[in-house]
Amino acid sequence: MRKPRVFVPELAPEIRLAGQEAHHLIHVLRVEPGREVLAFDGSGLEAAARVVKVEGGAVVLAVASPEPALREPPVAVVLHIALLKGDKLAGVVRAGSELGVSRFVLLVTERSVPREMGRTKLERLRRIAVEAAKQSGRARVPEVAEPLALAELSPVEFGLVAHPYTPTTINAINWPESGAVALASGPEGGFTEAEVEHLTGLGFAPVCLGPRILRAETAPLVLAAAAAALRCL
Ligand code: SAH
Repeated sequence: MRKPRVFVPELAPEIRLAGQEAHHLIHVLRVEPGREVLAFDGSGLEAAARVVKVEGGAVVLAVASPEPALREPPVAVVLHIALLKGDKLAGVVRAGSELGVSRFVLLVTERSVPREMGRTKLERLRRIAVEAAKQSGRARVPEVAEPLALAELSPVEFGLVAHPYTPTTINAINWPESGAVALASGPEGGFTEAEVEHLTGLGFAPVCLGPRILRAETAPLVLAAAAAALRCL
C-alpha cells in the first residue's frame, strides 16, 4: 500500500494535525495508530511519519528527520524514443527530464534516419539531463541509455506506444499506482505496423494522442506529460 502523503505546515518531531488534513486521514484514509505516512512541507522537505494517536478530530504524528523531497513520480517513467534527425533529441531529453522521466531508451527503428549515435552526442544528452534535473528541482538524474535496436527490447509490465491509428486515447488509460511505466514514441516516418505489433506483444498498448499527427519530438513529451500529471504534491 502506498504511504499517504500528508501536508504539514512545519516538520517537527511531533505534529498534531487538525482541520482538513486530519479529517482526510481519519475519514477518507481511515488511518489508525501505527499507520505510516509521508509528511511534507511546502519547502521541498519530507519525512517518514507514523500515526501515534487519533483523537477527536485530530491526528498526532511522530515524525522522523526531514530530508529533501526527491520529487519523483509515483511510477518510474522509462521513455523509449526513436533516434531522430539533427538535434531533436536534445529537446526531448531536456523537457522529458523536467517531466520526471527516469530513463531514456534510444531506439533504432526501421524508419529512423540516424542509425547510431556517437559518443559525443550521447554525452551531451547526458549533460542536458543533469542540467534539466537540477533546474527542475529533481535530486535524481535521468539515465540516457545507449541506442538499442527495437527488436532487442525486453517485455514490459506496463507500457504504452504512441500510435496515431488507434481509437484508445491516453485519458482512457488505467495507470498503475507504482512500479514502472514504459512509454514509446516513433521516428519522423513513424513506426511500421510490424513494429507496433512487436511492441504490443512486449506489453506496450497502443494509444493515440489526439486526431492530429504530432512531430516525432512532440509526441514523446505528450506521453511523458500524461505520466507527469499522475500526482502533484
Ligand atoms: N509519418 C508518420 C507519423 C510519424 S509522427 C505517420 O503518418 O504515421 C512520429 C511519432 O509520433 C509516431 O511514430 C507516433 O509514435 C507519434 N505520434 C504522432 N502523432 C501521434 C498521435 N496523434 N497519436 C499517437 N502518436 C502520435
